[in-house]
Amino acid sequence: MRNFKSKSSVVLLLALTTLTACHSELQKPLTQAPAVKDTTSSAQWFNQGKQLAQNAAPVANTQTAKNLILIVGDGMGITTHTAARIFAGQQQGLLGEEYTLSFETLPYSALIKTYNTDQQTPDSAGTMTALVSGVKTRAGMLSVSSDAERGHCGSSQGKSLATVFDLAEQQNKATGIVTTARITHATPAALYAHSPERNWESDNMLPEEARKNGCLDIAQQLINHQQGKQRLEVIFGGGQRHFLPTSEPAGKRTDQQNLTAQWQSLPDHHLLTNKQQLQDADLTHGHWLGLFANSHLPYVDQRDKHTPGLLDMTQAALSRLKHQPQGYALMIEAGRIDHGHHAGSGYKALREAEELDQTVNWLLNTIDLSETLLIVTADHSHTLTLAGYPTRGNPMLGVVFSNDDQGRPETKPYKLTDGGYYTSINYRNGPGAVALQRPSVDPQQALQPEYLQQALVPLESETHGGEDVALYAAGPWAHLFGGTMEQHWVYHVMRHALLAE
Ligand SMILES: [Zn+2]
Repeated sequence: MRNFKSKSSVVLLLALTTLTACHSELQKPLTQAPAVKDTTSSAQWFNQGKQLAQNAAPVANTQTAKNLILIVGDGMGITTHTAARIFAGQQQGLLGEEYTLSFETLPYSALIKTYNTDQQTPDSAGTMTALVSGVKTRAGMLSVSSDAERGHCGSSQGKSLATVFDLAEQQNKATGIVTTARITHATPAALYAHSPERNWESDNMLPEEARKNGCLDIAQQLINHQQGKQRLEVIFGGGQRHFLPTSEPAGKRTDQQNLTAQWQSLPDHHLLTNKQQLQDADLTHGHWLGLFANSHLPYVDQRDKHTPGLLDMTQAALSRLKHQPQGYALMIEAGRIDHGHHAGSGYKALREAEELDQTVNWLLNTIDLSETLLIVTADHSHTLTLAGYPTRGNPMLGVVFSNDDQGRPETKPYKLTDGGYYTSINYRNGPGAVALQRPSVDPQQALQPEYLQQALVPLESETHGGEDVALYAAGPWAHLFGGTMEQHWVYHVMRHALLAE
């Protein structure tokens, strides 16, 4: 703890000493070069680094972890980190580059290899299975081993993988899931369901073979999970439609089952559907299903006052989980960073990453890291790039302003050889792909929330990226993270910390 805090104070110093220009508010889009002025002196730059070096090395915590918090930024690759850091800093009136995301202050980090057993560039089902079961598997499959075939029920029988939540439950810990995606989506589902196909979210998606061989849809598996010994205490997110019959306006279930009613018929099981109910709930006991949207929760800037955000749900989850004397295991997913990227929208992806930053910041001020293993990572990356030679403090979503020969910011955006402007963040592929003659970027348009950054390869949906992702950690046994690691090793560190064996 002590070392963690001392490292944070250096980070704070870094942020404060470079605070100067105020710009990049989306409400006031920029059309000219930012008023860049970094007043940090050479002595200050030097002393910032020197102070860091003078701090004692972090002391390894080899206590048994009472609590575990695994945080997954879905699709939060390293370029997303950097861009989110600059974006979030600029929202606070900083130049941006010097800002530090809350989880970047954690003392231990590693690079994580994300490939699935059958794909170089992975998907969220295979990667989450690796993270929570300790075994890599095929893309598209949830907590079943790669001996099964994707989408084939019969081949998956007897191939279920135990997860870190199973372990936590065996230790009588409380367990919880918070996500901005549907709770039946790949990342959360890997913690309570076993399925050879991530798309089997409700019974209408099950093929004949799956029905014949007795595979259940993911929403039904959640209800059945609660009838066993290892019940979740909280599960908050979106996805009502997979729990309701088609006789309801939004329902998808052709078996005409109302699974929210089934949930509520179980002992001390409660349903929440809006922010007010979440705030009013007596979270000292019981099992809580929060379904706050028909599908995924709306993006941060599209939510109304009835919809809780990632921080609201995380606060409520901890209110429930902290009542368990034996501790808890909580998974928090910022599920829509991934969706923003697929849509080719840097704005959407960065706003979601900013919300994750705020949530982790609250956690760091709330939890006790001496007894809680905290991990922040991504399941996989995306094709976002950050490139060109923008001047310091260039608005993260804006067109590039370069420096002149004397290193001073130009007053007009940089013109490429094709005569047009460009943004510093772009995608390799996706819906923002440009035609043969690359169109210029309108400086005003680039700052609009609906703008799609240019891409090379035209695809309806931008894709995942195959490079490593980062992991940050603090707490018991976090020192086992370092170097370049396989994704499924993350489970084994969590297991070791919970068992301290
Ligand atoms: Zn994705």
